[in-house]
Amino acid sequence: MTNHPPKPRSIIDELPTYKAGRSASPVAGLTPFKLSSNELPFSPPEQLLQVISKVSSNSSRYPDPFSTELTTALAGSLGVHPDMVALGTGGVGVCQQIVQAFCDASDEVVYAWRSFEAYPIICGIAGAHTVPVSLTPEGKHDLRTMRNSVTDRTRMIFICSPNNPTGQVVTHQEFVDFMESIPKDVLVVLDEAYIEFNVDPDVPKSLELLSRFSNLGVLRTFSKAFGLAGLRVGYFIAQPAVIDAVRKTAVPFGVSIIAQAVATEALSMTELFSDRIWQVIQRRGWLENQFNIRGIHLEPSQGNFIWWPLKQRTDEFRDLCEKSALAIRPFSGEGVRVTIGEQEALERLLAVVDDFIRRNPELTHRT
Ligand SMILES: *Cc1c(COP(=O)(O)O)cnc(C)c1O
Repeated sequence: MTNHPPKPRSIIDELPTYKAGRSASPVAGLTPFKLSSNELPFSPPEQLLQVISKVSSNSSRYPDPFSTELTTALAGSLGVHPDMVALGTGGVGVCQQIVQAFCDASDEVVYAWRSFEAYPIICGIAGAHTVPVSLTPEGKHDLRTMRNSVTDRTRMIFICSPNNPTGQVVTHQEFVDFMESIPKDVLVVLDEAYIEFNVDPDVPKSLELLSRFSNLGVLRTFSKAFGLAGLRVGYFIAQPAVIDAVRKTAVPFGVSIIAQAVATEALSMTELFSDRIWQVIQRRGWLENQFNIRGIHLEPSQGNFIWWPLKQRTDEFRDLCEKSALAIRPFSGEGVRVTIGEQEALERLLAVVDDFIRRNPELTHRT
C-alpha cells in the first residue's frame, strides 16, 4: 500500500495562485520601495495606532460577529440603511462571500480581463465557470461584449471601476445603460476598491443606483484609500435580501476586534484621509505629466497607480526597476502597474524610465 496524503478536489490543482506584489530586493546604497500592491505611502495615523493598542487588550474575547458598530457607522457615512451593508475580511473576503452566496458549480461569472486577479481564483474555488472578456486597447471595459456574453447560466458580473490594473473607468451613463440591458436575476458587482481616487466627473452614482437596480451591489474596502490593507476590512452595499445572503457565507468572526474598532474610528477622520487621498491624486497627475514630458502618453489613471502597457518589454522594465530597488507589478507580455508611492520612489522610477527609453527610443513619440 502506498501512503499518499488525501487528494484535494480536482479543481484545486487548476486554480491560479494569487501573485501578491513583491517587496523590493535590497540594492547597496538604496532604500527599497514597494510599488507593487497599491498600498498608500503613509503609515496609519497615531490616532488609529492608539485604538489598536487600546482594543488589543480585549483580544481574549471574540469580536462582535455582526460588526454592529462599524456597520452602523458605515451606513451612516454612506447614507444607506445598515441592512444594506455587509462586512468581510477585506474586499477579497467579501468577493468570496458574494460568489459563494450566488454561484452554484458551473454557473457563469462574467468579468473584464485583465482585471483584479482574485476574480478567477474566487470563482474557481466555487466551481463557477469564468467568462473573461478582453478589455479595449485603451484598457477600458468592453461593456457591449460583456453584455453579449451573458447567457442563461450567468449569475454574476464583475465591473471593476477604476479597473485594476489599467486605471480606466466606466462612466455613469455607460453603467446605467449596461444595467438596463442586464437580466434582473444576474447580480452585477461594481468593484469600487479605488473609488476615492476617481476624479472623473462622470463617475457612476453607484449608491443612488442601488434603489433603481435591485441586482446591483457595490464593493469597497479600507485597504486602499484608508491605507489599512493589513487589517483586512472590506464591505458590500446592496439591497437587504442580497446582503442577507452575503452575510450568511461569511467566515464567522472573520473581522477582528482590531479591524472593527480601527475602521470605525477611521470613518470619523475624513479630513485626514481626504488630505492623503488628495496628495496621491496630485502625485499621480505629476507622474503622468513626467511621462508625457518624456514623450510617453499614458491613458490617465483614476486609481492610486499607473499602467504602462509595455507588452513584450514588460519583463525588461521590471528587471531594471529591481536593479534600482523598486518593486513594481509586472504582467508579462501586457504591461506594468506602478503604485503612486513615496515621492523619492517615483523620482527614482523616472530615472529608470529615462534609462529604459535610452535603450528603447521607439517607445516615445519623439523622433
Ligand atoms: C485591492 C482590491 C480589492 C480589495 O482588496 P482587500 O485588501 O481585500 O480589501 C478589491 N478589488 C480590487 C480591484 C482591488 O484592487
